[in-house]
Amino acid sequence: MRGFVLHTQLVKDEDLVVTILTKNKIERLYRFYGARHSTINLGFLIDFEIEHNAHFKRLRHVMQIGFGFLGDIEKMLIWQDFIRILYKHLFDVEEIDEFYFMLLMDIIANFHRDPKRVLIESYVKLLKFEGRLSEFECFVCEKKIQNHVNLVRGFLCACDKCIQTQGFDICKIQTLFAQEKTILLDNAEIDRLYKILMLGI
Ligand SMILES: [Zn+2]
Repeated sequence: MRGFVLHTQLVKDEDLVVTILTKNKIERLYRFYGARHSTINLGFLIDFEIEHNAHFKRLRHVMQIGFGFLGDIEKMLIWQDFIRILYKHLFDVEEIDEFYFMLLMDIIANFHRDPKRVLIESYVKLLKFEGRLSEFECFVCEKKIQNHVNLVRGFLCACDKCIQTQGFDICKIQTLFAQEKTILLDNAEIDRLYKILMLGI
């Protein structure tokens, strides 16, 4: 079985509960301490087996699958920050659509390009998949937004009267939402969008 490590929690000194996103399920597996075990880090893609016991499911035979930016600390930290907010978003989920696993596979394949842009574009895909992508109507007063749009957590749109932020040119955000492309946005705008994304999925 193959999956992404969404979370690890230390229990009883050295044992771990490892949360893993696979194609169709989020597994919560127990790993007993053993000096011979390889380390399991957040965001790693692993091959593994599950051993079913009476009281819990045990994680066994873990093998790490390499990907391009594993040795790049800066990219790895950005990746792990995204995994943290994804874990919070999927906290209660057990059965899951393969969309999420495929999205992460897609992200790691493209991450070398520009991590923040790839995450922002992927987040728009996620919002579309979950039917949560904002229309260009203010979420406070429900008026149609023109020219200048303010974005808050979840990329919800607001008008200038209701929420005052630096905001964005609406054409740029319309292109982002319609085409899942950040081409019209400059790096300073990408940084601002990325900060909004990090508020939570
Ligand atoms: Zn408004």
